[in-house]
Amino acid sequence: MCSHANSSQGVSDFTDVADSSDCVKDVKQPSWDLGCSLIEMTGVVHEFVGGDGSHPRSKAIYSKLDEMASELKLAGYVPNTSEVLLDLGEEEKEDALHRHSEKLALDFSLIILGPGTTIRIVKNLRMCPDCHSAIKIISKLYGRKVVIRDRTRFHHFDDGFCSCKDFW
Ligand SMILES: [Zn+2]
Ligand SMILES: [Zn+2]
Repeated sequence: MCSHANSSQGVSDFTDVADSSDCVKDVKQPSWDLGCSLIEMTGVVHEFVGGDGSHPRSKAIYSKLDEMASELKLAGYVPNTSEVLLDLGEEEKEDALHRHSEKLALDFSLIILGPGTTIRIVKNLRMCPDCHSAIKIISKLYGRKVVIRDRTRFHHFDDGFCSCKDFW
């Protein structure tokens, strides 16, 4: 299913998803985010699919996500659920956003990588506005540089700002 079918960006996202069969074949359930994100650490590539619970450390990742979600809210983050068009309650929509693949990958990196290490993630789709604003806050909150390459460009997050100046 395509939850973004009625927005023009969503349509192109959907086409992209259809093309990137590598990422889609592992999705076993209807997903709000058919994107996947990759990170490489010490020669091992970790792949995260939106809503994914299959990673060996997913329990630690999800509890870190919950912790991050409350810290983000304290820091003034407001979940942007406007692009979540599924028939869900407000709380479930926020939950769906928190499980986007780049958030899972970022979260995993925060658990694994020591302070001061730049986090590098490759995402197969265009990053959604919610992930973008959440990662800006995370870069400031945790004092981390985060580099994400999405479909359209590189995003260098540092100290609450992104190199794309919110235009991508
Ligand atoms: Zn997102
Ligand atoms: Zn950006």
